[in-house]
Amino acid sequence: MSFLTLDSLTKRYGDTTAVDALDLSIERGEFVSLLGPSGCGKTTTLQMIAGFALPSAGRIVMDGRDMTDLAPNARGFGIVFQSYALFPHMTVTENVGFGLEMRKIAAPERRRRIRQALALVRLDHLNDRYPRELSGGQRQRVALARALVIEPPLLLLDEPLSNLDAKLREEMQLELRNIQRNVGTTTLMVTHDQGEALSMSDRVVVMDQGRAMQIAEPFRAYEEP
Ligand code: ADP
Ligand code: ADP
Repeated sequence: MSFLTLDSLTKRYGDTTAVDALDLSIERGEFVSLLGPSGCGKTTTLQMIAGFALPSAGRIVMDGRDMTDLAPNARGFGIVFQSYALFPHMTVTENVGFGLEMRKIAAPERRRRIRQALALVRLDHLNDRYPRELSGGQRQRVALARALVIEPPLLLLDEPLSNLDAKLREEMQLELRNIQRNVGTTTLMVTHDQGEALSMSDRVVVMDQGRAMQIAEPFRAYEEP
């Protein structure tokens, strides 16, 4: 049985059909990308899975449980949206640790995981900064660390690396891919960058006008051991 199933998922905004009867099954531990031009319905798809947008029709089933109508905080995801705001009055460390504190993880374990997550996104030197003291790319990496640190059953990433310069983006692609492999977190990532989708994913769903036009498995010239 698939871990996540989208069954004829549809979202209409007035006359616009943002997502049009999308069918997709994702296996546990899989890394799937939604690839396509601006406006093809990628973000709306993630928002429905996260519970921030209600489907007009269709179903979302996760781990055998129908989640179509569940409130966002009843779904148990770690979410990184491109526009996802950090808490302005919290430092980097506090922002990353917030979800762990909510989940009642004890302080020593919390500190260990925060340290690990911040090292991963190369921000361990900026622990005590506030969001306003960070660049756009640094904020994006804090948001990424905040989602990763929770080790959620399903990670939804919306253009998580879009604000990074080319070199860091390439590094982070590798890192993210490696963590995903090691932790085995089922991941659904939105991107408009074909190279990024192909280099990171087990499967790439090519979307156009709210539909899945093609589902491809990237050919890997050499697999990591
Ligand atoms: P993508 O993420 O691929 O760029 P979106 O999912 O953001 O695409 O948008 C898909 C379509 O739905 C677009 O035509 C967009 O204008 C429309 N849309 C998205 N969100 C809303 C909204 N809240 N109200 C009205 N139209 C929306
Ligand atoms: P929790 O700690 O309960 O898992 P999160 O830290 O994931 O919650 O998110 C905090 C709140 O921010 C969520 O309850 C959600 O309503 C809101 N949120 C997160 N991302 C978005 C988004 N892209 N659009 C609208 N609201 C969002």
